[in-house]
Amino acid sequence: MATAPDRWETVIGLEVHVQLRTRTKLFCGCPNAFGARPNAHLCPVCYGLPGALPVPNRRAVELAVLAGLALNCDIPDESVFERKNYFYPDLPKGYQITQFERPIARNGWLSIRADGPDGGEERQPRRIGIHRVQLEEDAGKLIHTGFPGAEDKSGVDFNRAGVPLIEVVSRPDLRSAEEAGAYARLLKSRMVFAGISDADMEKGNLRIDGNISVRERDDREFGARVELKNLNSFRYLERAIRFEEERHRSLLARGEPVAVETRLYDESKGQTEAMRSKEEAEDYRYFPDPDLPPLRLPAGLVDEQRRRLPEFPDERAARYRSEHGVAADQAERIAARREIAEYYETALAAAVEAGSPTREAAATAARWVTGDVVAREKQDGRLAVDPARLGRLLHLRTAEEIPRSAARKVFAAMCETGREASDLIAELGLDEAAEGSELDALAARLAAEHPADRDSYRAGNRKAIGAFMGRAMRELGGRAAAREVRAALERALARDDDLPPPEGAGDE
Ligand code: ADP
Ligand code: MG
Ligand code: ZN
Repeated sequence: MATAPDRWETVIGLEVHVQLRTRTKLFCGCPNAFGARPNAHLCPVCYGLPGALPVPNRRAVELAVLAGLALNCDIPDESVFERKNYFYPDLPKGYQITQFERPIARNGWLSIRADGPDGGEERQPRRIGIHRVQLEEDAGKLIHTGFPGAEDKSGVDFNRAGVPLIEVVSRPDLRSAEEAGAYARLLKSRMVFAGISDADMEKGNLRIDGNISVRERDDREFGARVELKNLNSFRYLERAIRFEEERHRSLLARGEPVAVETRLYDESKGQTEAMRSKEEAEDYRYFPDPDLPPLRLPAGLVDEQRRRLPEFPDERAARYRSEHGVAADQAERIAARREIAEYYETALAAAVEAGSPTREAAATAARWVTGDVVAREKQDGRLAVDPARLGRLLHLRTAEEIPRSAARKVFAAMCETGREASDLIAELGLDEAAEGSELDALAARLAAEHPADRDSYRAGNRKAIGAFMGRAMRELGGRAAAREVRAALERALARDDDLPPPEGAGDE
């Protein structure tokens, strides 16, 4: 869909907070656990009592490094914890320990493939820069309804205070709501896949702030920026950006300035509302935390984490597309789950081992895995058929040795019995395939019974063979390979010496 070149350009950068999957908090031994009664997980360190000293959690440092690697970042040997000072009741110490000048990871990127606006084309890979990843502690949470023992008042739950987070700050490289959504989804999938975070947005362990501005397409400077908060799902993120984009454009088109501010997305109204003017870095009086020396990574830690990096779903999908020629949407569906991806790869390897060419076997395997296999998994609650067995069945399909309907019967029997395709084919009588002469007789009879279709074919309408294929396959009930049936029909339809139509047989 070619839309008219647009006068305006939207510029977006995201700040994504990801809660790390550790057992304990970032600087003390209190549990990092969701769902406990308010203020059950507190100690002098996370409560901020004077004199209590923070000690960095090694596991959190490892996960932050792993996250940096998963986002293609450089990992400096040393990073520095700083205090970000502000007053808010959810912050027990009056400052948050975070990183500022020297974060744990920087200069990374993710390659996204987004749909164009309105689900249109695009989908060319685009590299989105990641400015930095900082390791920091979470704040507490204000509870305005149903706080235990104070139902009619607001309360603060500090269980989350001190829980380890990373903040991933993108460069302002995103250009549409769709791209922002694609980037955020990809980031989440990498965090989950590498075991860095549960990234469950409903539990608040992945939180997104959006920064957006609009400028005239040829401007070199960015426009005035608005920060969007309360984007609790990918859908709200995209909706809030679309709303905000339109608001900026209509202000700018009228020659009115956009106020630099922080706005809150109200999902029930589907619009954003001004919350406060945007704070500047100086407002926070950052300075290195005197209780925490620079964080020097132990020798070998980065290499150790690098070895733990999995092949990510998006990388796998790209490989299935380029090496196996699998269609993009199927490749993504297969790669999205490690279990399914491994199943597909094992099945493909077995089909290739049995003699199928890779690309053809991959097309068959991708179709089956995204079709019958996952449908059957829903029914059984597990992947009932051994993938190598499926692969050998798929080889028979790829080689067109059995028709699709027969293969499905075999697959269903495999799900029940777990046995090998070759045994089941014999047992189900599917190997008693119609022979050449039987097929030729059938083809000749059908040609005679449907002279109009036959003549149309002979007059050059090669598509007319489709109707004959349907009739033949119905009569055979799957007892022959489509390839052979077609060959027999072609022979019969090319002949001139048809029998006269049987009595009463008319054209449709
Ligand atoms: P702050 O210190 O106010 O958080 P940063 O420079 O750290 O500002 O940027 C925060 C986020 O805002 C980053 O993701 C960045 O890409 C994005 N950003 C910065 N300027 C703009 C802009 N003009 N339009 C859209 N996003 C922007
Ligand atoms: Mg910021
Ligand atoms: Zn604690």
